[in-house]
This record gives sequence, structure tokens and C-alpha cells, in this order.
Amino acid sequence: MADLTIDITCPGCNTVFKKKAKDLKKGTLIKCPKCGDSTTIRDDYFTDMVKGLEKGSPE
Ligand SMILES: [Zn+2]
Repeated sequence: MADLTIDITCPGCNTVFKKKAKDLKKGTLIKCPKCGDSTTIRDDYFTDMVKGLEKGSPE
């Protein structure tokens, strides 16, 4: 599987940091490296996106 990284924008301080898309499964807690605010992945949006990219999406 490709090691795609996704830009995550912290909802607290708007810092952009990168995470591996395949690690962003539903329920994953992401912690901002700057302010320590955390966000939970609510659905499989990122992992679905990886699957779409592997299939070769038109974009
Ligand atoms: Zn933050």
C-alpha cells in the first residue's frame, strides 16, 4: 500500500501537520503536535480516499 500522507488541519490552532492516510481509521485520535488539541476521525473518509487513489481516481 502506498504511504500516502494527508494534511490535517488542527481545529484548535489551525496548524497543518501530516499523518499517514492508512493510519487514519475510524475512531483514531489525532493529537496536534503544537497545541495538543485532539481530533477523532469520525468515519473512514481518509482510508476510503486511499482506496480510491489506488484504484486510480480521475483527479
Ligand atoms: Zn493545534
